[in-house]
Amino acid sequence: MKLDATDLRYISSDAFRVLAAVEQGSKNHEIVPSPLIAQLAGARSGGVNKALGELAKKKLVAKVQNAKYEGYRLTYGGYDFLACRTFAKRDTIYSVGNQIGTGKESDIYVVADDDGAQMVMKIHRLGRMSFRAIKSKRDYLRKGQSASWMYMSRLAAIKEYAFMKVLHEHGFPVPQPIDQSRHCLIMELIDAFPLRQIASVPSPGALYSSLMDMIVRLARSGLIHGDFNEFNLLIRDHRTDAEKDRDDETTEDREARIEREGGDFPVKVELEGEEFEERRKREREGTLLEPVLIDFPQMVSTDHADAEYYFNRDVECVRTFFSRRFKYESSVYPKFNTTIRDGVREFDLDVEVAASGFKREDRKALDDYMAELAAHDAANGEIASDEEYSDESERERDDDEEDDEAVTAQAEDDLPDVSRVRISEPTEQAA
Ligand code: ADP
Ligand code: MG
Repeated sequence: MKLDATDLRYISSDAFRVLAAVEQGSKNHEIVPSPLIAQLAGARSGGVNKALGELAKKKLVAKVQNAKYEGYRLTYGGYDFLACRTFAKRDTIYSVGNQIGTGKESDIYVVADDDGAQMVMKIHRLGRMSFRAIKSKRDYLRKGQSASWMYMSRLAAIKEYAFMKVLHEHGFPVPQPIDQSRHCLIMELIDAFPLRQIASVPSPGALYSSLMDMIVRLARSGLIHGDFNEFNLLIRDHRTDAEKDRDDETTEDREARIEREGGDFPVKVELEGEEFEERRKREREGTLLEPVLIDFPQMVSTDHADAEYYFNRDVECVRTFFSRRFKYESSVYPKFNTTIRDGVREFDLDVEVAASGFKREDRKALDDYMAELAAHDAANGEIASDEEYSDESERERDDDEEDDEAVTAQAEDDLPDVSRVRISEPTEQAA
């Protein structure tokens, strides 16, 4: 499912007004009746039909004929368009660039402002996988009669933005949140690789400790990430090139160097004295390898009934990964009870998020939906969180997705390709 920005420039102002009307109508109708669109757009029906034709051709809306009436529904492409245009209007973004990630329920793009400064746009796409299967049974998916994929994806973006903001304000290492509209948010681009892609680190113990410290610090502020894995941790590498070379030097490299340079210095070049102390200090401070945490839609409060389970799962994720990848095992790891008991809660992030405008009932709707989705995936043998993704399973999932009957029409009507393009105002057309 891709975002197509190529057409963003070419929509007429009439078409834009009609698209906005379809969105507005979607709040109460999954399929918005044509007469209502005309009414909301405040336009002659001849003009509306022409505009709807243009929008349908660009796949921003889709014509639907149901048993009772004919109407249109907004596609993901249309919803993307509206969010991008809002960002462009607010001067948050000017262009959409390459897609850098596809999660199970999101797409990640690099975007830029008009100075060319790069940022990340995360588009939430809840319901991409298995919506139809669970949709009909659940009331919370249909607030009023609105399109549930729009509602849930928007809630996920609002939640993620709210959490990122509060975490960032309290000095947690997370991307700076920049803007949010509908199912999309804009954040700082972190120039780093996910931990998943890092083959070796100079001292796994130091990184391990800083990750466990982060889990503890979050919990003492009332929060649990809930998906604290190697995909959701980006590792900023502050080492100089010379340091990296030395850290990464293999036995063969070393032998070649000895051959080249001669001499009989020890095979392994260890740091000594002051240099060693300085390095340890940077490791401890996290100024050598600095982890940045992302991906917050599933965060839970430490007051949650299953808080201990989520906390332990986050801790276990780090332990398992370090043991597998770096052969690093430690008997020291945080325990939920002592973390909470000994912690002086200086502030309650959870309460602050609630105060930031992410409403309680919205939170419940989203949590219920996510739990339902996870249960559904588990029952179908799908991966419940992205902790186990590999390139292999990524491909398999893509194939599955194509065959999967449960994939909704929204997933299919999305647009072909994304290209580097500027976003600008709709072109004014002669009335
Ligand atoms: P999902 O919910 O689909 O897992 P994430 O927020 O974890 O989405 O993002 C998916 C991937 O996109 C990440 O693993 C990372 O590689 C990349 N990514 C996300 N946000 C950023 C960012 N702010 N800076 C750089 N890369 C990012
Ligand atoms: Mg993720």
